[in-house]
Amino acid sequence: MRPLLLLPALLLFSFVQAGDPPDVIIRSGNGMKVIGQQVELLVDGSARLSFEEVRHSTEFKPSASAIPNLGIGNAAHWFRFRAVNQTTNDRHALSIGNAEIAGIDAWVIGSDGTVEHHAIGQGVDQRTVAEPDIEPIVPLHIPTGGSVDVYMRFTSDKQLVVPLAIGTKDDLRGYASGRDLLIGCYLGFMAVLLLYNLFVFLSTRDRYYLIYVAYILLVSITQAVFIGFAKFRFWPESSWFATQASVIFTVITAVSANEFMTAFIQVRKYEPRLARFRFLLYALMAVGVVARLTHYPIEGYQLLQLLVMVSAVYQFVVAFRISRRGSRVARYFLVAWCMFLAGIVIFVLKDVELLPYNDFTKYTMPIGTAFEGIMLSLALADRINVLRREKERSQAEALATSLENQRIIREQNVILEEKVTERTHALRESNEHLKRTQTQLVNAEKMASLGQLTAGIAHEINNPINFITSNIQPLRRNISEIVEVMQEYRALTPETAAEKLKALKEHERKLGISDSIDELDDIIGSISEGSNRTAEIVRGLRNFSRLDEDDLKEADLHEGLRNTLALLAPQYRDKVNIRFNAGAIPTVECFAGKVNQVFMNVLTNAIQATAARTDGTTPEVVISTITEDGEVCITIADNGIGMSDEVKARMFEPFFTTKPVGEGTGLGLAIVYGIIEDHHGRIEVTSEAGKGTSISIILPIRHAALKQQRA
Ligand code: ADP
Ligand code: MG
Repeated sequence: MRPLLLLPALLLFSFVQAGDPPDVIIRSGNGMKVIGQQVELLVDGSARLSFEEVRHSTEFKPSASAIPNLGIGNAAHWFRFRAVNQTTNDRHALSIGNAEIAGIDAWVIGSDGTVEHHAIGQGVDQRTVAEPDIEPIVPLHIPTGGSVDVYMRFTSDKQLVVPLAIGTKDDLRGYASGRDLLIGCYLGFMAVLLLYNLFVFLSTRDRYYLIYVAYILLVSITQAVFIGFAKFRFWPESSWFATQASVIFTVITAVSANEFMTAFIQVRKYEPRLARFRFLLYALMAVGVVARLTHYPIEGYQLLQLLVMVSAVYQFVVAFRISRRGSRVARYFLVAWCMFLAGIVIFVLKDVELLPYNDFTKYTMPIGTAFEGIMLSLALADRINVLRREKERSQAEALATSLENQRIIREQNVILEEKVTERTHALRESNEHLKRTQTQLVNAEKMASLGQLTAGIAHEINNPINFITSNIQPLRRNISEIVEVMQEYRALTPETAAEKLKALKEHERKLGISDSIDELDDIIGSISEGSNRTAEIVRGLRNFSRLDEDDLKEADLHEGLRNTLALLAPQYRDKVNIRFNAGAIPTVECFAGKVNQVFMNVLTNAIQATAARTDGTTPEVVISTITEDGEVCITIADNGIGMSDEVKARMFEPFFTTKPVGEGTGLGLAIVYGIIEDHHGRIEVTSEAGKGTSISIILPIRHAALKQQRA
């Protein structure tokens, strides 16, 4: 682009005759003087022309700009001018204010025709100039009033900007010391920033500071490289690294600037898509660096120039967008970044001559980075404040939450307590309700078995009562006959006795009084038997229920069993064969009525189980009693239908029954269980479906204290 811009200027000046170089007059007291517009220029596209060939060339054209910007390319650019000394000094210097030029060759031709050659570019390992400076210097020895012709050849694979300035040795010294002071200030300032932030990092361990420290370090090195200070100090021997350093460090700095920004203003959070874009930039930068360091140095350089610019704009856009969302740190960053960009813009504007070339415009890049550094340090310092405020706020919040939590817990406790009382109350009520229902159920079961019993008992008592009632009529008839005969006998007097006796005897024979008298014995025997049996049944009933005995008493369990069997007789008689193997057992301390109920329930189940068997087996129940270790064991074994494991597992559950409605309530064994528990006894069950069941009731013979009777 640059050569194109130069084209009209070249055309404009093309009429100037080639011949002697133009004069550059050195006067004293002016300082270093920029001479870009006083020299002539020749472009050697092949870069093959030698000094001798160029020296006599007529192709030199006057330069149009103060700071010739010759673009990027493989061409060699030749400059020439004649320096005329009008000072009283004879030592002068030509300074090339761009440390980044790879190849600089200078030929100084004295008035006597001697030619001095200097090779002083960045790509030269050993400079031929005795006094090295951070910028390339060509020493000029011109006697007062005399002159020298200067030819220079520049090659570079970077942007070739050639600020040429000339002056006396003192001018150079003055310029160099001013510049060195500036550089010193800059590097010192950056060092302070770096150390400050490093210190902050060490005390806060906040990684932003570390990234920032790295960033400052890289920025400083990059600037030092650009200024030429780096080669001068760090790698004076390696021309390869010297020429590539600015490119490498620029790329690394761009990456670190991006990374710092990404972390610092939380790009990933606010602009996740834009955050990913930077990886594309990095990848392209990597391509650029590889191209630059291999076979395409110029294309690589141009790509990198473009990418670094895109990266700078990208950072601006990202920071702008995030700061628009109200992020304070992003605003700080944006301002800092704008300062840096301003430095670059001024620097570029100077190169295209829209701004004058001077010590300020020449160093706007480091100045920009210094201001950027200040701004970012302020931002980071502000971050500390923000962090502290955040911490205070979060502490306050935590305190508030914990107070709130306490309050809630207190409230909850109150509610909980209320609930507990409520629930306890409800529980108590339902418990009482349950107890009531249980009592009712137990009563119901009692009533049910009572119903069964009464039917049996009614039938049982009916028989003996029949004995009595059926004999009443014959008794009455016999007695009235006897009484009739008796009356007749009593009416006899001694006078009429003999006469009436015969008739009386006849009457007596007719009535069959002798038979009646004989019958009386039988009748009375029957009546007596009937009333005896009735009395026995009634006694058995009373014994069974033991209504009169609520306390723990010595009881004969055999008697209890017999009474129970007597009551159950109507249910099993003629159907089930019951055997009673009474062992020798002592009386047992128990609630006899309750224990009889146990026998009754277990025996009823056994009878029902044998009756339910339909395969023709003779139904049989065997009762046996034994004593063992202070306990008595009453075993009631049947050969009934038996139980499956599921039924066996649930047999003691209240309401669990396998019998049809009306026959079973499911409460019998539940009641048994409760009673045995009250007696501190045990029940052992063995059963096999289809074979039969054996239930053993084990009771302690004596025990110190029994639980009080249940309802
Ligand atoms: P119910 O006799 O009213 O059904 P129980 O509590 O007395 O209630 O018995 C519960 C269940 O246990 C019975 O339905 C029956 O299935 C089973 N069971 C109890 N004793 C025997 C037994 N001797 N033989 C077979 N099953 C029995
Ligand atoms: Mg039962």
